Amino acid sequence: MNVEKCGQIMHDYLLLDRHEHVPLKITAHLLVCKKCRTEVRLLTIADKACTKPISIPVPITSDSITSIMKAVIPNYTAEEPEFNKVSLKRWVVSGLVMIFAMLFFGINSYSQNSQIAVSVYLVFAAFITAYLALFVAGNMDFFIKKLKNLQITV
Ligand SMILES: [Zn+2]
Repeated sequence: MNVEKCGQIMHDYLLLDRHEHVPLKITAHLLVCKKCRTEVRLLTIADKACTKPISIPVPITSDSITSIMKAVIPNYTAEEPEFNKVSLKRWVVSGLVMIFAMLFFGINSYSQNSQIAVSVYLVFAAFITAYLALFVAGNMDFFIKKLKNLQITV
């Protein structure tokens, strides 16, 4: 085959986009020219190798990841940082304190001005709502586990 024609055919082939229809002129040349056919086949293999996702055969529990993290971050520890340091017992105790405070205020303000009592109850309600939102957000793992257990048993 003519070297210049092969060069032109390969040039035209490389101008094509990925998955674009190969023109008949190039296809016809590839049918008869083994050199160009081999080049196109190798280009296709290289393209597939370059575009497939990278798989790293390292288990996530491997010590190599820990050693890399220690190299990057000097004071790195393998344990997950504990964001929620408030125990469930403290949440319950503080919730009970809030409820008793509200009840105590209710007993004391029974005979006083009712408008002040309503506004104070609204403040209590806002605090309790914020408390519950923080409690649920802080203990999301606990609630997710409970929901998963419910789904299994139902
Ligand atoms: Zn050729």
